[in-house]
Amino acid sequence: MKILVINAGSSSVKYQLIDMAKKKVLAKGGCERIGLPKSLLKGVSGGKTVEINEDMPDHTSAIRLILDALVNKEYGVIKKMSEISAVGHRVVHSGEDFTSSVLIDENVIKICERNRDLAPLHAIPTAMGMRACKEVMPDTPMAAVFDTAFHSTMPRYAYMYAIPYDAYSDFKVRKYGFHGTSHMYVSQEAARLLKKDIKDLKIVTCHLGNGASVTAVDGGKSVDTSMGLTPLEGLIMGTRCGDIDPYVVEFLMKKSGMTVSETLDYLNKKSGVAGISGISSDFRDLIAAADGGNDRARLAIDMFAYRVKKYIGAYAAVMGGLDAIVFTAGIGEHTPIVREKVLDGLEFLGVKLDKEYNNNLPRGKAVNFALKGSKVKLLLIPTDEELVIARETLALLPQ
Ligand code: AMP
Repeated sequence: MKILVINAGSSSVKYQLIDMAKKKVLAKGGCERIGLPKSLLKGVSGGKTVEINEDMPDHTSAIRLILDALVNKEYGVIKKMSEISAVGHRVVHSGEDFTSSVLIDENVIKICERNRDLAPLHAIPTAMGMRACKEVMPDTPMAAVFDTAFHSTMPRYAYMYAIPYDAYSDFKVRKYGFHGTSHMYVSQEAARLLKKDIKDLKIVTCHLGNGASVTAVDGGKSVDTSMGLTPLEGLIMGTRCGDIDPYVVEFLMKKSGMTVSETLDYLNKKSGVAGISGISSDFRDLIAAADGGNDRARLAIDMFAYRVKKYIGAYAAVMGGLDAIVFTAGIGEHTPIVREKVLDGLEFLGVKLDKEYNNNLPRGKAVNFALKGSKVKLLLIPTDEELVIARETLALLPQ
């Protein structure tokens, strides 16, 4: 059984073809600059690097090109399109319309389009990706897998904002949370690694990538998460500010003459560790600069780790205990100094870090890097959002 996973952006479509029986990625890549001059498809197919420079005026032509590459005689990985059993689409925002993955029909596409106010950068491209697949492979079932769905179990008192209730009842303004597929996957993998029933575990999952969020997973369910109505809330990120006094927006506008959208752009794209350091959003650059004595790079790393630590403390309190902390995504998986700074001082919760092992963890493997006897297990679990989307899609197919 082969599942095609599609992640559509405004001018890009990323894809992976996964053989579910063999748990193997057969081909992966992406189309870039869709609708722009010099569009191209870059990927790896059957172990070979593929680069196709071809005009892609819209998402339909990009999907066609991806499928052509998959069946290509020279570097393709399947003989015919009908070998693809289903397509799973990543959908960033479900609003309150969906609490789990669903098979896609016209109504689902329309709801995704209707939710464009909630995910302005993603909703329309996602719907375009769905329509394009429907046109090119009309008989292949498709599923929508939502970044927000895993967080639909949050209690009302956790997801409501303390603004007049009408903002919720009229406009659905509330916390939704994101990275749900990742938080779900790594919490389930944590239970597997610890050989425990997830129902008996209180886990804080830290998805620390360019976008970053922390989730409290109690008994397998998300009970709180750091991102909000949009992915701007919560942790300090590569270029996003995370939690901030909303009054900063008006204050900055008055002082700098920026418009509302310029200010939001500033908070989304120019802030975070990039804005603090003035160097880069990438932790490899920040660590090199900090090692070289750059004070603002050091400050950015300290601020980032401090915010993660605050959320872990808050979520341990929310769940009334803590069995494991999971680190995942680019920074979580590859930056020992961040893990060490986050965990430093959490001994009172029962955290005992194996510092030496933390500095020498194997790549791409799920491991426990707590000292023996640590009440709280410290886990590195590589995330795999595409695999979750493929699994969710498979589960929706008639057996
Ligand atoms: P992601 O969004 O999960 O792809 O994570 C991207 C971020 O992870 C990058 O911006 C880097 O800050 C960080 N990252 C990735 N690889 C490494 C590495 N080998 N060492 C340090 N940081 C890394």
